[in-house]
Amino acid sequence: MILPGQTIGIIGGGQLGRMMGLAAKEAGFRIAVLDPTKNSPCGQIADVEIIAPYDDEKALAELREVSDVITFEFENIDYEGLKRLTEQAYVPQGAELVRITQNRINEKAEIQAAGAPVAPYIAADSFEELAEKIEDIGYPCIVKTAFGGYDGKGQVKLDSKDQLEEAKPLFAHSSCIAEAFVPFEKEISVIIQRNSAGRSYCLPIAENIHKHHILHESIVPARAEETVLQQAEREAEKIASHLKLVGTLAVEMFVLSDGKIIINELAPRPHNSGHYSIEACNVSQFHQHIRAVCGWPLRKPKLWAPSIMVNLLGEHVEPIKKAITEYPDWSIHLYGKAEAKEKRKMGHVTIMTDHIEETLLEIEQSGIWQD
Ligand code: AMP
Repeated sequence: MILPGQTIGIIGGGQLGRMMGLAAKEAGFRIAVLDPTKNSPCGQIADVEIIAPYDDEKALAELREVSDVITFEFENIDYEGLKRLTEQAYVPQGAELVRITQNRINEKAEIQAAGAPVAPYIAADSFEELAEKIEDIGYPCIVKTAFGGYDGKGQVKLDSKDQLEEAKPLFAHSSCIAEAFVPFEKEISVIIQRNSAGRSYCLPIAENIHKHHILHESIVPARAEETVLQQAEREAEKIASHLKLVGTLAVEMFVLSDGKIIINELAPRPHNSGHYSIEACNVSQFHQHIRAVCGWPLRKPKLWAPSIMVNLLGEHVEPIKKAITEYPDWSIHLYGKAEAKEKRKMGHVTIMTDHIEETLLEIEQSGIWQD
């Protein structure tokens, strides 16, 4: 068990690392962070800041040297480097989960192997292979790069064969998958957290609303039938135990109009749709993650009140600052990023409310999130 006073090393200095670090510091842990940028969101709150590329051997050795346990805040770490690290340091999450989730082809295969449902799909190493196999799933479909896509980047929707050429550029850097377009009614995410003893808990399930492929709002609990939510938890549990999860896994899912669930993708780390848990639960996704990687017993999550989380992108930073006096019930989080670029995630707001629909209207009428 890792105890207060010991040091947690975090690979990645973004907002997820920062919020993990803040949770850990409450209990008296020390934080070391590895990130290429000085004064990163996590660097600002860390005790030790190591500034270097994520795959820099010397920097990883330094992180190892100062850390009693190492975790990561994102999945696009060099797998070979992480694997070596697991042999030399205490990395309870292991490297396998990263190998699987950083490649959509592996990820889909493992979700299926866990017995959870995915959309019909094919994998292709070249555009020619895609052209040959795509008839197996038909149109409309979505072609996605196997590596490196996020927030809708690295993917195109094809409505008919005439558009096939539009998928060609995706093969420049990576193999791809093509999957049937799912006519979903809503998107939800289950954040499941598990310790090495195999104990797991799901956080209350979030319903996610995207704008321009970026998460805009999470509503908790998701507005879906109890039976659907129970099924969603069961699917997440299947995947977590198949992957022998230690730490956090976010499972993004589609819910169809008949209540059927399809798994979209996985993230082996705390997730944007779980930020609400900082205020709205007796244990936040960040506290629970720290408990899991430090070998502490997990706490059964409890939701204090229904909640809405809204993301703050670059263009929302100035408007939210002006709105502070008007909304005393809104918990405002800004991540300390130096530059408020448009569409860059800069922070979020959480609102606990017994009146979800009224609060959604209040958010809209605030004029802060305009498109
Ligand atoms: P992803 O990067 O896989 O999370 O995809 C980004 C967003 O594109 C998802 O949140 C969905 O809104 C949409 N999307 C992805 N895959 C599909 C699909 N097979 N059918 C319909 N919509 C999809």
